[in-house]
This record gives sequence, C-alpha cells and structure tokens, in this order.
Amino acid sequence: MLGGAPLIAIPLASASGEAALRHGINAAYVAAVQMAGGLPVLLPPNDDTADLVARLDAFDGLLLAGGGDVLAEFYGQTSTTHIQGVDRARDLTELALAQAALARGMPILGICRGAQVLCVAAGGTLHQDVQAALPQASDHRHRAGHARDFLAHTVGLLRTGLLAQSLGRPRGAEVPVNSSHHQAVDTPPPGFEVAARAPDGVIEAIELNGDGRAYALGVQWHPEELVPTHRAMVGLFTVLVQRSAGR
Ligand code: MN
Repeated sequence: MLGGAPLIAIPLASASGEAALRHGINAAYVAAVQMAGGLPVLLPPNDDTADLVARLDAFDGLLLAGGGDVLAEFYGQTSTTHIQGVDRARDLTELALAQAALARGMPILGICRGAQVLCVAAGGTLHQDVQAALPQASDHRHRAGHARDFLAHTVGLLRTGLLAQSLGRPRGAEVPVNSSHHQAVDTPPPGFEVAARAPDGVIEAIELNGDGRAYALGVQWHPEELVPTHRAMVGLFTVLVQRSAGR
C-alpha cells in the first residue's frame, strides 16, 4: 500500500456466456470491500501461478469469493458426481495465492467457496456434499424463491477470535446468516480452529489459531449479500481491510 486504500485482490471466476468466455465476480463483493475502505483489484485466472505468486506483494490483502466446487483431487480425494461447477484454472490460481498469502502473513478472507479454498490451501479437507456426508444435516443450499439475504439459520460463535472480533459479538452468540452452499469443511487445516457451527453441527467458519496478529478467516455464508440489510456484516470486510492496511 502506498498511502491509499489497501489493495484487496479478488480472483475472478470464468463463465461461458452465450457469446464468449467471461471472467467475473458478483458485484456485491466489490461493493462490500469498497464500503470497508479497500480498493478491490480483480485478478483473472492465470495458469502461470508462479508469476502471480511472485507479484502477490503488490497487494495488501486477499478476498476469496464464492463459486463452484474445488476439485476434490486438490485435497487427496476423487471427485464424485456431487462436485459442481469445476473451474480448474481458478482452483489453481486461488490455491496458489492462498498458500502464498498464508506463508507471508497476508490477510485472507474466504467466503463460501473461498472458505473451502482456504481450507484446502492450508491442508484441510471438505465434505464433497453435506447431504451425502451428513444425512442428518439441514439443507444449506439456496432455497428457490428466497432472496440472497434470506436468513436461513444461525451460527454459534465458538471462540474469542477473528470472527467474533469482526462481527463485534462475543463467544457463544448466535448470529443469523444466509446459506447457499452444498459443501462444508470436514477436517479443518492444521493451525486453524472452527470458529462457528450451524445448529446441525456443520462447520460455518474457520480461522487461524494464532496470537491474533495473523488474519485468515473463512465463512461459509455470504456476508457481502447481507451488508445492505444487516450492516454488522460489513465488519468482516472492515477488519480485512484494517488488517491489510496494517501489514
Ligand atoms: Mn449454512
């Protein structure tokens, strides 16, 4: 950062539209970072991950957004038919950036798929499909007819840490969230703790278990969609931007 707003890198997804391949991301991520005082920098997928990693220090923080599933081969499993929306170039790009950011102590906020990327990058594993792996779990997928800010369930905050600080709520608080995922963290990575669970036990947030100086947090819900109607959710972006400014 050179005296301006912290630069928050956001890797993009690819999509085959009717006309041509496009790279993009939901505007809500960009708006939330801007509201928090950061300058979003949108990064297309790049198979030359070595070049991306070498340039990572040009940025101050990393935001990993939502999207399709990470290939299970990246966490030592075989992808089942539950794996949806594979974007291998994005997987490679984001896993390389997340690993490099973790190694450098660069702040990372992962959202939905982004939380899953953070988990895999740090050595954890995922449930390829929550319903298949945990038949007793409730349905965490987006429900037809509901707005993206529909509060589908609560998450219980399990520790005094990055998530609780970001939301301004104490350990033990129950926080209503939206839900639009069919995967979740299975085994948290080494060095991370479960920061929140849904009432059915599904892991909804992981965070670095450090001395609080390093910042890496993944949440399974979509705070960027909640910011306009549930303003406290901007805290997740504000703390990301503050930590990024303080590196
Ligand atoms: Mn959920």
